[in-house]
Amino acid sequence: MSSRRVPLRPAISALPVYVPGARPKVGAAAYKLSSNENPYPPLPSVLAAIIDAASDVNRYPDMFATELTETIGAELTQTLSPEAHDAKGDITAAQVVVGNGSVAVLSHVLEAVVDAGDEVVYPWRSFEAYPIVVSVAGGISVQVPLAEHGRLDLDAMAAAVTERTRVVMVCTPNNPTGTSVTQTDLLAFLAKVPSDVLVIVDEAYLEFVRSDDAVDGLAALAAHSNVVVLRTFSKAYGLAGLRVGYAVARPRLAAGIRAASTPFGVSHVAQQAALASIRAKDELLRRVDSLVEERARMLDGLRAQGWDLVDTEANFVWLPLGERTAACAVEASDAGVIVRPFAGEGIRVSVGETEATDIFLAVAAGWR
Ligand SMILES: *Cc1c(COP(=O)(O)O)cnc(C)c1O
Repeated sequence: MSSRRVPLRPAISALPVYVPGARPKVGAAAYKLSSNENPYPPLPSVLAAIIDAASDVNRYPDMFATELTETIGAELTQTLSPEAHDAKGDITAAQVVVGNGSVAVLSHVLEAVVDAGDEVVYPWRSFEAYPIVVSVAGGISVQVPLAEHGRLDLDAMAAAVTERTRVVMVCTPNNPTGTSVTQTDLLAFLAKVPSDVLVIVDEAYLEFVRSDDAVDGLAALAAHSNVVVLRTFSKAYGLAGLRVGYAVARPRLAAGIRAASTPFGVSHVAQQAALASIRAKDELLRRVDSLVEERARMLDGLRAQGWDLVDTEANFVWLPLGERTAACAVEASDAGVIVRPFAGEGIRVSVGETEATDIFLAVAAGWR
């Protein structure tokens, strides 16, 4: 019997672990502000759709999520700027690829275009799934440091594009710093990137953006064939636990992403919940408005304590605590709010229940 072991791919052995937001201990009362989840439970109409769909789980789901992709296409078409619509017409179902959360969709996008050794440029610090999905797809990460105040450095990202670059990822608002890029900056950036380099615009927090000149990924897609927009039902629509996200791309690229996707990746329950959420959009977006107000209350409260913080356009706030990060996170947890520490860098605090904001503000006051 040989004692040789099955080797793991070096890229897999070297992967950083994805650190999920901590969960409260079983039985302990705590607010979970560690994963940018929506604090509201499902609407009754969405819950009813979930329960109804559950009676069909002995069957495979519709592999092409026909109704969902058609509905998403029609919804997105309604949000298109007149210029984007004039340029490219409606967003069709053929341009929409759904997957098991937008993280899975992102993997499929990379698997569709990245060959072994191709470079993928992205900002850092940014979403912690990025280095993992890039390595798993066989790509090489090229991390471009954030500029001042947690902002994406689009000039440096454009400069990092070489002959070997296959993909550039733009996370806006950026997780975990909350800053967003403007549409003017995005279009200027796209003008510099070669048309055979894919630009992924990750708009996971789009619905929370209130700034002028906000990024309009669909308008960028109408103007540039190398753009893929990523969206999710996990954050604003409150379906993180059911895993539904999607990519929007030109039809040829979308077909490639679909070909790389896990068959039956989105369950029937998840498809029906997403459809019910689209039907309940107005109600859900009112909840987003409340969270945006709560975000302002958290930010104003922290600034009144003397914290120098950048504006956040997402459903979380970033506190650059440096070396004090871990200790502050422990104290917050002891006080009943679980936050997401990035050791040595800072704390990301999701915007959730008003009581949770109050507890966190009281903790933060002691760290000024
Ligand atoms: C939360 C998040 C996502 C969404 O992930 P899902 O897999 O759709 O739940 C995507 N991108 C970023 C930057 C995120 O923070």
